[in-house]
Amino acid sequence: MNLKTSILDYINDVKSGSFSVEEFTSATIQRIKDVDGDVHAYLSLNESAIDDARAIDKKISAGEKVGTCYGFPISIKDNICITGSKTTCASKILENFVAPYTATVVSKLQSEDAIVTGKTNLDEFAMGLTTEFSAYGPTKNPWNLKYVPGGSSGGSAASVAANECLASLGSDTGGSVRNPASFCSVVGLKPTYGLISRYGLISYANSIEQIGPVTKTVKDCGFLLNVIAGQDSNDDTTIDNANSDYLNDIEQGIEGKNIGIIKEMTSDGLSPEVSSATKNAIQDFEKLGAHCEEVSLPTIPYTVAAYYTITSTEAGSNLARYDNIRYGYDFESEGYEYNSYISKSRTKFGPEVIRRIILGGFVPSAGHAGKYFLKALKVKSKLISEANSAFEKYDYLISPTAPVQPFQFGEKIDDPVTLMLLDYNTVTANLTGKPAISVPYRVTDGLPIGMQIIGDGKSEKSLLQAAYALESKTDLPEVPL
Ligand code: GLN
Repeated sequence: MNLKTSILDYINDVKSGSFSVEEFTSATIQRIKDVDGDVHAYLSLNESAIDDARAIDKKISAGEKVGTCYGFPISIKDNICITGSKTTCASKILENFVAPYTATVVSKLQSEDAIVTGKTNLDEFAMGLTTEFSAYGPTKNPWNLKYVPGGSSGGSAASVAANECLASLGSDTGGSVRNPASFCSVVGLKPTYGLISRYGLISYANSIEQIGPVTKTVKDCGFLLNVIAGQDSNDDTTIDNANSDYLNDIEQGIEGKNIGIIKEMTSDGLSPEVSSATKNAIQDFEKLGAHCEEVSLPTIPYTVAAYYTITSTEAGSNLARYDNIRYGYDFESEGYEYNSYISKSRTKFGPEVIRRIILGGFVPSAGHAGKYFLKALKVKSKLISEANSAFEKYDYLISPTAPVQPFQFGEKIDDPVTLMLLDYNTVTANLTGKPAISVPYRVTDGLPIGMQIIGDGKSEKSLLQAAYALESKTDLPEVPL
């Protein structure tokens, strides 16, 4: 039994009887016990995973209908709700919150017989890029435990990279699936806005965020998308994708396709290693028969500022509900009057969340909105029209996912602006609603580098074809853990 397997190979092996679902689940739980003390990808584990596995084995041996997932183990970011399990958002304020309902994505997985291994670590409320802002301690990068795994879905990416599950679900508001995927050498997709239901995802900035799959291979990403995508009556922003099969024709190739290399994301600010990997990737795309040329989207330099203005505004409003009345934790509340009770409760937020709430109160406020919030919305509209014109000419837009490789813990945590600028290459897909994928491309000096491919809205099928083609050009080492 090989825990490094892909989902598709796992399913074939279970179908052919090479091992049972219970055997694989037990081995996965053992792997978590062996390595998660170091990696800290998980915040909690699903105690009934083995029982779930036995139930699926029983269906298999009785010849009953089994869901398409055949019991493969998947971890879920801890800002996605599952009935009866703790959902903390890696925050002290939700330390004891037990979700009363299950997110649509998880219901879909469970009805297709996937097994949830547990909930994964993140930056508090998905705000950050390293998992250092988790209230429960950081996740370590399985490629080198001294390095950050990226974020905010760092636990999700690390759990897949460290073979503590076969796939994971993260959330991506400004890069939180793609960045850790790039830092941990796994595949991460931020789908078109609305392709995947957000019902049961605890909101950070709901107008631009999406749940996205984290997998070992591009084909697994297509497989998972087939299971979780689609319209949901519980989320009115979802779009119809009827009859889409993201695996079918995935090997079609990209012969004759036009690729725009985004100038603003590839000229300044890249580390020499990332810059040289990007040049190689462009050559690979050419070898695959695509035509590559530089394209400029002049609004990009303003996107990080616009992103933080818009997301902080939404976060300020979304997080107002944590007043310790509707959700909360225990403390000796006697003697507090209403305002001081709420203020005291909200001291449970960590520094990054507080920073965003303060910013989110200021930028949309009367007298300042024109200068900040409305301007940010204008940047967003301008960016969308630039991206739409680019997609009239190009099938794909490319850049490295992150301008740098993973860095050491503590290196950037005291410098919020530097951290924010690392979102430079990822926020465009969120602000425009376009799909984008990070594909593992190189491991240089023992640390991963991912390439980003952005597609036009609802073009996931073609996006995965390009990602698969690029993946076929790589030959990456195995994680040393
Ligand atoms: N680093 C970005 C932020 O802190 C992205 C987070 C995300 O995508 N959830 O907002």
